[in-house]
Amino acid sequence: MNTERLVSTFLELVKINSVSKDEKTLAFHLKSIFDKMGFETHIDNAHIKSGSNVGNLIVKISGNKKVPPMIMGAHMDTVNPGQNIKPQIIEGIIKSDGTTILGADDKAGIASIVEGVRSIIENNISHGDIELVFTICEEIGLLGAKYLDHSMLKSKTAFIFDSSGDVGTVIIKGPAQKLINATIKGKASHAGLNPEKGIDAIVTASKAISNMKLARIDKETTANIGIIRGGHSTNIVCDLLELEAEARSLDPEKLDIQVKHMIKCLEDACNNVNAKLTIDVQDCYNEFTTALDDPILSIIEAAMKRADIPYSPKSTGGGSDTNILNGAGIKAVTLGIGMSNAHSTEEFITIDSLENTALLVEGLIQEMK
Ligand code: ZN
Ligand code: CA
Repeated sequence: MNTERLVSTFLELVKINSVSKDEKTLAFHLKSIFDKMGFETHIDNAHIKSGSNVGNLIVKISGNKKVPPMIMGAHMDTVNPGQNIKPQIIEGIIKSDGTTILGADDKAGIASIVEGVRSIIENNISHGDIELVFTICEEIGLLGAKYLDHSMLKSKTAFIFDSSGDVGTVIIKGPAQKLINATIKGKASHAGLNPEKGIDAIVTASKAISNMKLARIDKETTANIGIIRGGHSTNIVCDLLELEAEARSLDPEKLDIQVKHMIKCLEDACNNVNAKLTIDVQDCYNEFTTALDDPILSIIEAAMKRADIPYSPKSTGGGSDTNILNGAGIKAVTLGIGMSNAHSTEEFITIDSLENTALLVEGLIQEMK
C-alpha cells in the first residue's frame, strides 16, 4: 500500500462533483483508471430507472487462485452540498473548507479499493476473481443497488465499504425501512367569513401526528415525519396537505406494528372531521442479519488480524446498498471506513483510516476463501 498515492487518489475523487444522479464524470474517471490497469469494465443501465446520468460501474478482475469470487463495493454519489469540494489536510486529518461536505462518504471507500487492488496486482499477490461494484444514487434510496444488473455478476459474497465508525466496524444487522406517503384532503373556505365551513387539513394532520409515537420507539425501531407540504394563504382554510414519513426496525413485525399505528392515527383524525385520506406505503428495503458464525465474518476477522485492525461487529440504524444485495441473495456486510460527521460540512477522515481501509481491502482479497 502506497499512502501518498492513496491520499492523492482520494483528493482527486472528492474534487469530482458527483451528487446523486450526476455521477457520470466520476464513473468515467474511475472506468479509465481500471481500463488502464487492464481490467474489464462495464456500465450497466441503472441510469434508466434511477434517472441518473450514468449507470453503475462494474469492474471484473480475473483471478489466478481457486477461491470463490468476491464483490467489493462503494457508492459513487454524494449528498449536498457537494459541489466544488476543496479538501484540505491538517495534521493527518482531511476535511473540506467548511462550505461543503468532504465526500469521504463514500469516496474514502472507493479510493481504498483502488489502492488495495493496485497494491495486490503490483506485488503479484495471487487472488480469486474480484468484481468491483461502484453504485449510483445510494443516498437517494439505494437506487443503483436496486437496479443493479445482476447478470453481470457471479459473486455470492460482498464487502461494502460504506459505514461510519472506525475501520474494524462490521455491520452485521441493518433495519428494514418503509415510507408512508399520506395526502389529507379537507375543504377550503374563507378564513374570515366562514371558517366553520372548512375542513382544515393542517389541523387534522397535527391531531394525527400528536397521537403518534415517533422518534425512538424501542431499541430496534425508529419513526420520523420528515416532510409536510400544504397551504396556500392565511385567509384560506387549508384543504390539502401531503405528509411523508418513514419507519425502520431491525424486526419486521415491529416495523409493521409501527406503520399500522401511524396509519391508524391518520385515519382516526381524518374520520373525525370527514377529511379524505389517501395513503401509500412503500417498502424501501428488508432488514438483514449476519449470524456471528457466518463464514463471511471469519474472512473479515482474518483480514483484520492480518492488518492489525480490531474486529468489532455491530448493528446499524441506517440503510445501505448492503440491504439490497442481501435481499438479492448475495451475502453482504458493510465495513466501517472511519468517516466522521458524514452528511455535514464538518465531515472529515484521517489518513490513518484511509490506510487501514486500503489494508483491509488487501487483506480481504488474500483471505477470501
Ligand atoms: Zn455512504
Ligand atoms: Ca451516506
